[in-house]
Amino acid sequence: MPKEVSECGFCGKSKADSRLLVAGKTAYICDKCIIQANGIVQDEFSVDESKVTEIDLKTPSQIKEFLDQFVIGHHETKVVLAVAVYNHYKRIRYTSKKSGIELQKSNILLVGPTGTGKTLLAQTVAKLLNVPIAIVDATVLTEAGYVGEDVESILSRLLQAADYKVAKAQRGIVFIDEIDKIARKSGNPSITRDVSGEGVQQALLKLLEGSTINVPPKGGRKHPEQRFVEVDTTNILFITGGAFDGIDRIIEKRLNLKSIGYKSSSTHAQIEKNELLQYVVPKDIRDYGLIPEIVGRLPLVAYLKPLDRIQLREILTVPKNALVEQYKVIFSLDGVALKFTDEALDTMVDKTIEYDLGARGLRSICETVLTSAMYHLPEFEKDSLLVDKEYVLRKLAKAEISKLKAVS
Ligand code: ADP
Repeated sequence: MPKEVSECGFCGKSKADSRLLVAGKTAYICDKCIIQANGIVQDEFSVDESKVTEIDLKTPSQIKEFLDQFVIGHHETKVVLAVAVYNHYKRIRYTSKKSGIELQKSNILLVGPTGTGKTLLAQTVAKLLNVPIAIVDATVLTEAGYVGEDVESILSRLLQAADYKVAKAQRGIVFIDEIDKIARKSGNPSITRDVSGEGVQQALLKLLEGSTINVPPKGGRKHPEQRFVEVDTTNILFITGGAFDGIDRIIEKRLNLKSIGYKSSSTHAQIEKNELLQYVVPKDIRDYGLIPEIVGRLPLVAYLKPLDRIQLREILTVPKNALVEQYKVIFSLDGVALKFTDEALDTMVDKTIEYDLGARGLRSICETVLTSAMYHLPEFEKDSLLVDKEYVLRKLAKAEISKLKAVS
């Protein structure tokens, strides 16, 4: 304990002038100096932190190979994504060497129906590179001052995913889903202006362009007393996704298909609609109602086809983390070997298609089929359960499967 008069050995404040004086062996330190010193330590660490966040860059073919292990189908999209990711992180390395030519960032837009694996693709890239990822839904974002989340909340989530390490967050990935939902209602700005949608787009633009944003680290609305963390978005990779319902009509118009006899009988229209979507280009996205500046920041547009029957069947068993494998592990933890006949799996896929549940519906179907078995699992008398077609049909009939549509 220091014997001198009690005052802070750093700033000289007396005991009376400070809220707290902590005694050391030869001096005191006041609460304010502790906080300041803590800031210095944090800053020092963040310098070191940027060194350890060097990304282990994989080649495009390694990235594609990794994606193949987790995501079924979408081969061309995976190639586009692999190249974009590779170039993005290569660009960061190049820029950090401060060479002459500036390489612009290429954020990505994935167009495809819901439940085709857009989020899964983004998550898998983040997993491979071991970078933090924030997944947000554009529909919850609003302009500052409206009910909903400020655009900055996206970065709060990224910070959270990066354990609040700014340097790590600044090399992370942000996946913004349902970006089509903030489109202007009309592609022509002079006719109908959907002000709130456009306001969110403007706010998002700041992030996509690459700027330094004040972020409330714990999320929530900005308010003056809150401490902010500065996050530079220049090296954050933005992957956006959306179903863009109805964009086929814009593509059709651009390609002038009507004049060469675009068939409108329902099956033909359906087939051609899916085929049309693969020709989507940034101009179509602009005509759909995203502002040109946002479209300009999303130069890579890739299309994900709806998953067909074979792919849905594969999703059950083939990928790492496949649904069926997950349930097998859950059962094995209670000492029960879970097995499915091929017919049972086919039936689950048939029902998913029949009720138009998509890939996400496969999980609801599995849950429905297995819930009663899982309920009794701890007291199970046998050491295995074989799920066959009859078992699946019986469980689904009981659960009134048509209700699943609403929840999936
Ligand atoms: P989206 O973002 O396109 O709406 P998701 O990536 O959220 O779709 O997909 C929902 C779930 O469906 C995933 O978590 C995964 O279990 C499954 N899934 C969807 N598409 C695929 C795919 N192509 N390969 C493997 N699983 C998929």
